[in-house]
Amino acid sequence: MSEQKGILFILSGPSAVGKGTVRKELFKRNPDLVFSISATTRDIRPGEVDGVDYYYKTREEFEELIKQDKLLEYAKFVNNYYGTPRQFVEEQLDKGRDVFLEIEVQGAMQVKDNFPEGVFIFLLPPSLEELEKRLFHRGTETHAMMQGRLRKAIEEIKMMDQYDYLIENDDVKKAASKVESIIQCEHLRRHRT
Ligand code: 5GP
Repeated sequence: MSEQKGILFILSGPSAVGKGTVRKELFKRNPDLVFSISATTRDIRPGEVDGVDYYYKTREEFEELIKQDKLLEYAKFVNNYYGTPRQFVEEQLDKGRDVFLEIEVQGAMQVKDNFPEGVFIFLLPPSLEELEKRLFHRGTETHAMMQGRLRKAIEEIKMMDQYDYLIENDDVKKAASKVESIIQCEHLRRHRT
């Protein structure tokens, strides 16, 4: 069955809901999954590595990627661009590998238009209060930027009905196990082992 294409999984949800933490737990358990590293114009945070967490680009470089149609999707999120490099994802899917995108809602909706066969997973915070706490405790941005992210999060949560699966992230390990179950089910649904 190796000629079959891989499955595209889209993990989405509001900023600071814990998408990155759940994804890292999932990848620890499933090293065969492929993570799509996004391009962004936002500043690098302490501890992040170029080419591992993101490809950090200038605004001009990013706009060139858009112009050359090198992005599968992109979005402006709180004054910065974020986008998924197209070629890598398509190559990996063609090789039969499952690919994971970890992206915000506007981008996920673009992917839905182009890859309706993708599996769309929305990670929810246990409550808005908890999300606010996680957002503000991260402490990597200014108060105004965090307020912007919170406002955006409220808008994003309104889009959850557009997704195939909703997972509440009250516990990272449990949330990762639920994503693992989704992956297994989607393989079975498509008659794969
Ligand atoms: P952060 O600045 O916290 O790393 O990311 C901000 C938001 O952008 C998060 O919701 C993150 O998932 C999302 N994001 C990361 N990469 C991409 C991407 O390639 N495309 C889109 N649309 N959103 C992304």
